[in-house]
Amino acid sequence: MNKREFLKSSVLAGLGVTVLGAREAKAGTSKKKNKGPKHWVWENPKQKENDQTLKEKYESFYKAGIRGMFFESDSERHFRIAKKAGLETHRWMWTMNRGEKELLENHPEYYAVSRNGDSCADKPPYVGYYRWLCPSKPEVKEYLTKQVNSIVEKDYVDGIHLDYIRYCDVILPVNLWNNYKIEQTKELPEYDFCYCETCRSKYKEKTGVDPLDLEFPDQSPSWRTFRYKQINNIVNHLSEVAHKKKKPITAAVFPTPEIARRIVRQDWTNWNLDGVCPMIYHGFYKEQVSWIGDAVEEGIHFVNGRFPIYAGLFIPDFKSQAELEEGIRIALANGASGVSLFGNINSEVLNTLKKVQ
Ligand SMILES: [Zn+2]
Repeated sequence: MNKREFLKSSVLAGLGVTVLGAREAKAGTSKKKNKGPKHWVWENPKQKENDQTLKEKYESFYKAGIRGMFFESDSERHFRIAKKAGLETHRWMWTMNRGEKELLENHPEYYAVSRNGDSCADKPPYVGYYRWLCPSKPEVKEYLTKQVNSIVEKDYVDGIHLDYIRYCDVILPVNLWNNYKIEQTKELPEYDFCYCETCRSKYKEKTGVDPLDLEFPDQSPSWRTFRYKQINNIVNHLSEVAHKKKKPITAAVFPTPEIARRIVRQDWTNWNLDGVCPMIYHGFYKEQVSWIGDAVEEGIHFVNGRFPIYAGLFIPDFKSQAELEEGIRIALANGASGVSLFGNINSEVLNTLKKVQ
């Protein structure tokens, strides 16, 4: 029961209008529940797929309970065919991690700077495509506003989906440590952001301290909070931009509120969203399928009903369809409104989704 329905039935019951009134409200709720979960898929639209193939694919998605698409790039053809099949079409946007050439060439000053003094504009951490912007700069906020506006103004775009909406990983998920040959048991300066002039002076204005002078910056609660708020400010502003055009906004976030804050400074339970897709990729954290339930439960607790949670599942992490089914069931049982799937959506995956409807 959502808040409005709860209030409606409470008011009716409180006024003693009729028992029927309350029962009707209840029936309305259960009817809503019968609609089943709402699932999502992340997809990179491929131009080589023809209209008929796309029509069949999206219709089969719909039949399996998928209700929304996150498209990684703009393709009016894909969006329109998906809409025709009954799916919501959302544009998936890389937000703080942006390596477009024109930005790198014309505005290297927009990029985040590490505790070592290196900029993501010319020395990206971990991988070449890690080009993180500084969230404290008004120009960055303005640039992202323009990007979101240009997306949501299109009539075939139903909503916007923010990805990479955070700082660079100060700590990587444990399963990736071996790939980079690093043991990140503490916050290392080359992965710790942002120490640009803007961030340092804004924090100093507030606290009287330059973050570069902190002896143990990883242990400073106010320096952490400052950084959470820089991203919160960007998200809540972009949320206003989308809502002005009457388009919903969602985000792909780290698996639990605690992990998100600790390893990427992402405080997603304080965002004004219409839904969130925590990437509960259990393999990345060397976890078992059962952990998906723990993660969903934690998110549900802290979001406290403000927006739905769609558990993000990484298909290659599941050893079998039975295991995937278990993962979906655990997510739903713990309060997820559906799942968002990353990976190849083949007929086996669709059949698994049908089973849990
Ligand atoms: Zn900065």
